[in-house]
Amino acid sequence: MTPNANQLTRLAAALFTALALTACGGGDDTATPAGNGGPPLVVDADGNSTFMATPLGTQLAALPLQVLSEAEQASLLFMREEEKLAGDVYTRLNTLWGLKVFANVARSESTHTEAVHQLLLRYNLSDPAANLGAGVYANATLQGLYTQLVASGSASVTEALKVGVTIEELDILDLNTQLQLIDNEDIRLVYDNLLKGSRNHLRSFYKTLVQQGGTYTAQYLTQAEFDAIANSAMEQ
Ligand code: ZN
Ligand code: ZN
Repeated sequence: MTPNANQLTRLAAALFTALALTACGGGDDTATPAGNGGPPLVVDADGNSTFMATPLGTQLAALPLQVLSEAEQASLLFMREEEKLAGDVYTRLNTLWGLKVFANVARSESTHTEAVHQLLLRYNLSDPAANLGAGVYANATLQGLYTQLVASGSASVTEALKVGVTIEELDILDLNTQLQLIDNEDIRLVYDNLLKGSRNHLRSFYKTLVQQGGTYTAQYLTQAEFDAIANSAMEQ
């Protein structure tokens, strides 16, 4: 066990260094487009998909500040809290069950909600999550959802993993729906990467659920949409 863990740690460190060098290398390379791997979203061997703050800031700064529609504004306020909810629920479920997938994905989610926060700052919008602790939301729907999901995930470890899959499904549905009304390039950059992260997290939770003997039926996506994601490889 220990040598493998050490090897993985070294591999992760080497990968991180390589990415950091790429990010700092500058030169005349244009920013990596969303969805093509690498910064601003870094994916590890387990599928944890984490925003790197510096490359994200650089890529956002290079994009024009476009007019913000009402739909775009509403979406940013909502996604700031929906990403926070994912991290809060996984942190709570990790406390209950001590499963590393919850701890790892919770860490990634904290960078997801922070990426949306960066967009709020760019547009001078006040942050709905300011001064709110874990499990507390300005949005009443999300508040109810948090209570319901933590209750479901408290029943057993397989129920907890199903909650993980369900949150990622919901995230994918909401991001896809809201992207239909969003044309600002900076929001699309962040959301495209959030979507990729959610697909990877869905795969991580689903794989762990199956390993634990659990099964899952799609809750928000169609079963065909769900299967297409769950049965495909992690995206870099
Ligand atoms: Zn997320
Ligand atoms: Zn996620």
